[in-house]
Formats: sequence, structure tokens, C-alpha cells
Amino acid sequence: MPGKNLSREEARDRAGIIRVDSYRVHLDVSAAADPGRPTFRSTTRISFDCTSPGASSFADLLAPEVVSVELNGRRLDPAEVFDGARVALPELAAHNELTVVAECAYSRTGEGLHRFVDPVDGETYLYTHYEPADARRVFANFEQPDLKAPFSFTVTAPAAWDVYANAVHERIAEDGDTRTWEFAPTKPISTYLTAVVAGPYHVVRDHYSRELPDGSVLEVPLAATCRRSLAPYFDADEILTVTKQGLDFFHDEFDYPYPFGKYDQCFVPEYNIGAMENPGCVTFREEFIYRSKVTEAAYEARANVILHEMAHMWFGDLVTMKWWDDLWLKESFADFMGSFAQIEATKYRSAWITFANRRKAWAYRQDQFPTTHPITADIRDLEDAKLNFDGITYAKGASVLKQLVAYVGRDAFFEGARRYFKKHAFGNTVLGDLLDALEETSGRDLRAWSAAWLQTSGVNTLTPELTHDAEGRITELAIRQDGDVLRPHRIAVGLYDLAEDGALRRTDRYELDLTGARTVVADAAGRSLPALVLVNDDDLTYCKVRFDGRSLETLRTGLGDLTGETGLARALAWSAVWNLTRDGLMPTRDYLDLVQRFAGRESDIGVLQSLHQQAGTALELYADPAHRGEYGTALAEVALRELNLASPGSDHQLAWARFFAETAERADHLQLLRGLLDGTGRIDGLAVDQELRWSFWLALATHGAAGTEELSAELARDNTASGRRQHTQCLAARPTADAKAAAWAAVVDSDELPNALVEAQIAGFNQAGQRELTAPYSEPYFGMLESIWAERSIEIAMRIVGGFFPRYQTTPATLAATDAWLTAHQDAAPALRRLVLECRDDLARALRAQECDVQ
Ligand SMILES: [Zn+2]
Repeated sequence: MPGKNLSREEARDRAGIIRVDSYRVHLDVSAAADPGRPTFRSTTRISFDCTSPGASSFADLLAPEVVSVELNGRRLDPAEVFDGARVALPELAAHNELTVVAECAYSRTGEGLHRFVDPVDGETYLYTHYEPADARRVFANFEQPDLKAPFSFTVTAPAAWDVYANAVHERIAEDGDTRTWEFAPTKPISTYLTAVVAGPYHVVRDHYSRELPDGSVLEVPLAATCRRSLAPYFDADEILTVTKQGLDFFHDEFDYPYPFGKYDQCFVPEYNIGAMENPGCVTFREEFIYRSKVTEAAYEARANVILHEMAHMWFGDLVTMKWWDDLWLKESFADFMGSFAQIEATKYRSAWITFANRRKAWAYRQDQFPTTHPITADIRDLEDAKLNFDGITYAKGASVLKQLVAYVGRDAFFEGARRYFKKHAFGNTVLGDLLDALEETSGRDLRAWSAAWLQTSGVNTLTPELTHDAEGRITELAIRQDGDVLRPHRIAVGLYDLAEDGALRRTDRYELDLTGARTVVADAAGRSLPALVLVNDDDLTYCKVRFDGRSLETLRTGLGDLTGETGLARALAWSAVWNLTRDGLMPTRDYLDLVQRFAGRESDIGVLQSLHQQAGTALELYADPAHRGEYGTALAEVALRELNLASPGSDHQLAWARFFAETAERADHLQLLRGLLDGTGRIDGLAVDQELRWSFWLALATHGAAGTEELSAELARDNTASGRRQHTQCLAARPTADAKAAAWAAVVDSDELPNALVEAQIAGFNQAGQRELTAPYSEPYFGMLESIWAERSIEIAMRIVGGFFPRYQTTPATLAATDAWLTAHQDAAPALRRLVLECRDDLARALRAQECDVQ
């Protein structure tokens, strides 16, 4: 569709002549509960100036029907000025009033105004999600981050509903079956940050107040909402506790009062991402409300997201990037701050371990794709922007900020942030604005640092090089840096020795600046050879860590003995051996052997759950196919052993139970799962609750050991949104040609399914153990790519392209087919090519790892 994919140049030109005074938006969703009504009435009135009178411009709008357009009192014919994506605005005056009335569509894809009907009670729920550019699916606007304005929303909804938006409501007018909510004007914000949430939501209210330095008191009403049917599981106390701890922390550190009045946190159904930082009205995926037992890692992850979104109230909402090139300005900061605030202000002490182990794994993976990019990216248009919510923008950016704090010091870093907020409040910025503030406060020249870290791509590898004398004393310890770009790294190097109790403990720590290809750790000379050299101890920098031969041998026999004040050193060692495996430098069997021997002793539950995930990937993708079966059985047996050994009712027990279900394959293992389901078997302390039941059913269904009637019975027992998704996934996972055909058809041949069920179908379809059954879909996959990309919304298209890629067909033939598609489709949409290139790279990596594993 012409004009749908707004380019950076168009945005720049438009910002060059337009200043928006205000938006007034009225949405009428009073008939939303009627499934026969595909649209709602949207009326937008925009007051704006044009600095170049006589010029023409356009507003953005994606709507099935435009009812009327009026510009400065003149009616324009929608058939002439609306092309499906834009409203042409000819001959602008110095001051302009634009009114657009449209019928906009309810969304089933999580983009725009999403509509969801709860299977439990039939209630209808609405919420919006816009980033980067879907506000135009709900009302006409200038959809770019640097045209900020105050927004006044008015929403007409069923009388029994509550409505939430960015600001507080000023009045509610009753009119029979409907109520009309008028909200106060917002502070100047970007279109992508506006939000409306409407429905019979359950709400818990609270309040935060804080005395400000000038003696006044800031009052912030708090609310947390979820669907009514989730209310019994809603632990709002914990959510609001973290919220208040975060507000305290950010007020202490940012010295700028929370700028958006009240703070609502809405947990919403079928949400595509983790959460969104809409000022005053944050939306979260409702899977953060736990219906069954989850591990402490899940609570930690949720607290991290709460704090991430809250950091955005300053970084992103108060001060916003000018264009999507600088998306990292807000995402890297929020990501870093989420972990930082968690450690400083909450009970979650493992945040840096989780960061080292999970966030960085995401960054390292993304940064080794051929499609990687500098943290400050080159975003030509909105399709580029959509794909840039990636491991570079979030996790690498945050890792680099962690390195920056090590480089300039904490005080200079936060003082820079404080100045940045004050100077740019309610404005838009680029990278240079932040660097200016940090240079002022740190006194360091950050241009060279920025050029090396923010404007280049790729990850450095750091390797220790040791020489010693005949007495076993170090003559030289040096750190070698490899990579396309060499960077300044502030690092710590830890030396570890075996203590008498068998633990591997740090005995020496050297902190130093690495520059260039090789840096000598001068202070280490003369010391006796350690059992282990851990480069990047304490995880200050962003790099891949390698080991010298002696250290690697120590880890093979004693990774589980590695101890410290926290489990960070061990998490770093796990991360390093995982990178060696991914890089085809450590055979998969060796990695799996480490997991089998030491995962049972891993105390950090987040690290353990990562190990389960990585062991699964290693088995399915990186193992020599000739040995895959034998490795799989060994893993399942270890999982069962640890499940039986874990203390009853513990998080570790639950994590091993899930991993056992994922690896179970043998008849006796499946029988055990069935026994746990029907109550004839039990494991002391293991509550087989609803979520665990579904993971057991998934294992049985995948191996052809669950009948459709049994699965239907389970759905009847749990006829909820979550139950429907898991039932769908179980059906698609069955090992029959019909099940695969049905899942494929449901997603590819029809666009009826909502986002959540598309995801469930794909997850069920693609099973590692069903390579023969899914092989026939490789050819149709490449055949459908371009039409899917053209016809589906980008959110759904991305899921289909990434999800149906034949990633378990790890053969040179699949690689050749992928290359053939790439060669023949040089002109395909760059964002589509990027996705396929990344899948190709994963596949090529799997083939290399398999080769390394051949004995
Ligand atoms: Zn964010």
C-alpha cells in the first residue's frame, strides 16, 4: 500500500513544516461487544501550524473507511484525499484545523485497538498497542515520534465498562447503555505512546506520595488491572510493592518528579510483547499474572519489566528519540535501568546474573548475524523500525551502558542523566545530546568511545594467554582481543584456585583498561599458575570470553565447584561454554556432558532454566544426528534423576519437571507423565497444577500418546484463554500428517486466527522430533514468503516467516534452498530478507556445530 511504510525523509520533511498544537480524539466503542461489528467510529480533530503556508502535507490513517475529512472548514472528498494509508492535506494555512471521521477496524493481531472475548465469561476487552506506528489504525494523526502534542481522549463505551487512558478522566457522562469518558489533556507526547484500555477490567487501586526537594508533595494515584476471570490469581500487592520501590528509586536517581500524573498498569490479553511504556497507562502481557506455580525467576522477570517500563517514563516518554535510528536511546537505558533498579531497590538480588546469562545471550546471538547493525542504527522506514526491537537495541545497548558506567563511574553517569532530563524535557533528542550531557559530567571524551561502541557492530572475543616458568609461576598473563573492530574495554580478570573444600574460589582480581589487540596484566606476573583465569569477571564489559587450555580443563571437571559471593562467576562460565558450543569450538556432547554433571548443582534458578533451554537447543540443532537419540535419552534420565532429587515443592523441582516433560520420549517416561496427570503417580511436593498439566499433555501429544478426546476433556477442564492456546498447540504437535496440514492451513491459508493462536499453531507444528513430517513444508514455505509479507500485518508476517522456517531440517539441502530464495529475491522487502538471512545464519551455525560434534 503506497504510503504505509513512512520513510525517514518523509518524516523529516513533515516535521520541517508542521507544529502540532493539540489532538482531540473521540472513539465510540459502545458496540464493541457485538462480534458482528468489525469497526468503531473514530473522530480526530488536530490543530496544527504550518510554517510554510501553501505547502501540502498528509496525515496517517489505516482505516477501512473514511467518512469525512474537513480541513479549515472545507469538506474534502475522502475518495480523492484518502488512499488507504494517508489523508492528503493540500494548501495548508499558517494555522489549520483538521477533522477526520473514520470507521476503524478492531484488531485481532495486537496492532491498533485489539478486541478480545474471554471464553470464561464472554466479556469483551479492548486495549491499544501502537509502537512503532499503529496509532494510525485507531485515529488520524502525524505518526512520527518528533511531532509531540497534548492529546485529549474521549471514549464512549458500554455503561458497565471502565476506561483507562494516559491521563485521568475529568468527567463521565451517562447515556442509557453507554457512558462517555472525557480524559484530561496529556502532556506533550508522541503518537506511539498514547493508549486506551477499555472493558470490565478488575482493578486494584493504591497511592504513592513523595516529598519533593522544594517541599511540595507529589501525589501519584496507582492502579493495576486485569481481566475479571484472572482476578483470583492477581497478586497486585507484589506488583504495587515493586512499583513503589521503583518510584522511590527513580526519584532518588533522576531528580525529576514523575511527569505524567497517575500510574496505571494494565495486564491485557493476547499481547504481542512484554509490555509498553505508555505514559500513565502501561500495558503488560497478562501472562505475567501467574495461574499456576512459577519459579522465582518469573517474579524476578516481571519486576524487571515493571522497572523497565517505569524507567521509560523519563527515558523515552519525557525525552523521546527524534526518529527510530535512536530507538536504543530509550530501550538500552530502560533495559539497563530495569536490572540496576532491581538490585538497588527490590528483593531481587540475581538481576545481574540474569542479565549476564539471558540478556547478553540474546545480544551475542543477534550481534553475530550477518544482519547485525550498530547500536545507533540506520532506520530508513517503519518496516526497518519494526525489526529493530532486537537484541542489539535492547540487550547489547544495555550491556554497553553497563560498560559505560564502569568507564565513567556511576556518579557521572546519573548526573549526566539528570541534566539530560532537565534540558530536553518533553522534547526529542539524538545520540549527541546524551553524549554532551555525559561528557560534561564525566570530563571524558566520549566521541571516540561512542564511535567504537555505538557506531560499529560485532562482538569482540577476549582470550587469556598465559606463559609460565619451570616452577609454575606466571611469566606473563595477557588478554588478546579479536574482532573486526577493537574497542576500549574496562574489565576485571579473576584468578581462581581450588580450595581445600573442593570449591573453586577467586584469589586475585585485576581491573584494567584493555586497548588494542593485546594487553598485559602486569600485576599477575610472578603469581603461581591458577586453576582458572576468568576474563571479564564481574561482567563489566560486553564480549565473548574464551579460556586458556588449563582453565578449560578445570571447568570440564569442576564448573559446578565455581563459587563466589554470588553465582555470577559460574553464570559467566556457563555463558562462555555455551558460546563455545554455538561457535562450533566445543562439541555438543561436551556441553551436554557439563549440563548433565553440573546443572543439578546450579543454585540460581534463572541460570538453571537457561541451561534447560540451551541444552534443548544443543540437542535439537547442534548434536550430531547420529547421536541425537542417545543424547536425548541421557538428558531425560538426568532430568528425571534431578526431579526426584530436588527438594519437594521447590522451584528447582518445578524446573526439572518441565524439562523432564520436554525431553521425555521413551514409553516408560511418557507413562510416568500420564500417571502424574491421572493421579496414579506422584512425586513428593510436586503440585501438578494447570500449567504443568498442559506441559505434560504437550509431551504426550507430541509423541502420539494423547487422544483428541483426552485433549478436549482437558480443555473443558480449563476453558480459558490460556487453555485454548495450549490445547491448540497440543493438537498441532501431534505426530501425524493431518495435524501438520491442519496447523499449516489454519495459519497460512486463512487470516482468521488471532495473534495468540497463530503463535500456538506454529509452536505446535514445529517439533524437533518430527523432521520427516514437517520436511514436505520446506518448499511451500519459500513459495509463500512474498505473498504472506504483502498480505498480512507485519506482526503476523514476522511470526510466520520466523516460525515456519524449516529450522529442524538441518541439511545442506535446506541451506541451498534458502540461498536460492535469497538469490532469486534480491528485491524482496529488506525487512523480509533480513528475517530469512537470520534464519539462514542459524541454520549454517547448526550445521557447523553438528560437524564439530561428529566423533
Ligand atoms: Zn522498553
